[in-house]
Formats: sequence, structure tokens, C-alpha cells
Amino acid sequence: MIRRAISGGKFIMSKFNVVFVLGGPGAGKGTQCEKIVKEFGYVHLSAGDLLRAERAKGGKLADMIEHHITNGSIVPVEVTCSLLDKAMEDSGKQDFLIDGFPRNENNLQGWQKAMDDKTTVKFVLFFDCPEEDCVQRCLERGLTSGRTDDNEESMRKRIVTYTQSTMPIIKYYESQGLVRQIKANRPIDEVFEQVKQAFSS
Ligand code: UDP
Ligand code: MG
Repeated sequence: MIRRAISGGKFIMSKFNVVFVLGGPGAGKGTQCEKIVKEFGYVHLSAGDLLRAERAKGGKLADMIEHHITNGSIVPVEVTCSLLDKAMEDSGKQDFLIDGFPRNENNLQGWQKAMDDKTTVKFVLFFDCPEEDCVQRCLERGLTSGRTDDNEESMRKRIVTYTQSTMPIIKYYESQGLVRQIKANRPIDEVFEQVKQAFSS
């Protein structure tokens, strides 16, 4: 929640607004989120980046996080959700792009339990990208990203997790009428044109 000033020196507590950004590994979520930040002034929170930062601290969670990232499996929601919650609270801002979350049923349930009272999910931006393009982009990214999961073996596992666990979450939000779908296997600027439309509709 964010404290907002109203007249008479008073304050009200107001909910965080959230746009979830989902799509396969390498679908372009991070790239497009950077552009959305510039154009629309959201705060971009990548769940994967928050987990990598937590891993880099080397605390008691580091090995567990590393295991999930390399295997393309999903970190338990308590960890991810509290990192997201803290980042939102610390930012002092109200509007967030949450990139790469919720990725499975456990993520969705945990989010709803912990965050439903203090957030409003505005919509879900879904980057729809064919598997071949996703794999190729991640392998290319792997040449320079230094990520432990941008290799063929991790990629195969990430794709399985995405298909089996994340697609049902996208379907769930579709059933709520909340999904705005983007054709993501296009040049960056063409994808962003679709994104701008999604934000203005
Ligand atoms: N991850 C996770 N929970 C999340 C987000 C990411 O466990 O909510 C882990 C998961 O192992 C995933 C990895 O972090 O495969 C990388 O996620 P990221 O979103 O950075 O990958 P991208 O989809 O951008 O390629
Ligand atoms: Mg990403």
C-alpha cells in the first residue's frame, strides 16, 4: 500500500497497481518492460532479477535459488513474493510491471493470499512467442548474458515448465478477461507498437 496525501494534511492508504508480464523464456519481456518504463513511467520488477540479486548476496537461500534457476523450476512463492513485496514497499511508487511472475499455481495462490488486499491486478500482458524463436533468442543471449540458464539443457527444462505450469496461469487470467496478447516474434519496435495499444485500451 502507498500513503497518499489528501487535503487537510490527511493521508489515505491506496493499493498498488500491478501489470503482470508473462511469456516464454526469451519472449522479450525484459526488453519491452524497459520501453514501457520510459513511455509510461511504471516501475519494472523482474522476479528473475530479484531472485538473481538474492542469490548473489550468498545468504541461506542462495543455493536453493541457484538450483531452481539452473533447472528451470520455480522457487517457492514465499521467497519470490516477499522480494516483490519489499521492492514495491521500498520504491514509494504505485504502479508496477511485474515481469516473469506468477509462473505456476503455487505462485498464483501465494500471491493472492499475501497480496490481494493491497494490490489491484490491472491486466496481464502476454508475449506470445513460438518456441523455436524463444530457444534461439536465449541461446544468442547466452553468448553474453552470463546466465546459468541460457544454455540448451536449461532451456529445454524452462520450456517444459513454461508449457506445463505457466500456460495454465495465463489461461486462468484469460478466463478473468484480463489478458492482453502481443505477437512477440516481430522486431522490437513492432512489438512495442502492440504494447502501446495494449496500454491505451
Ligand atoms: N524464477 C522463479 N520464480 C519467478 C521468476 C523466476 O523461480 O517468479 C526462476 C525460474 O527458475 C526461472 C528463472 O528464475 O526459470 C529465470 O527467470 P527469468 O524471468 O529471469 O527468465 P526469462 O523468462 O526472463 O528468460
Ligand atoms: Mg527476463
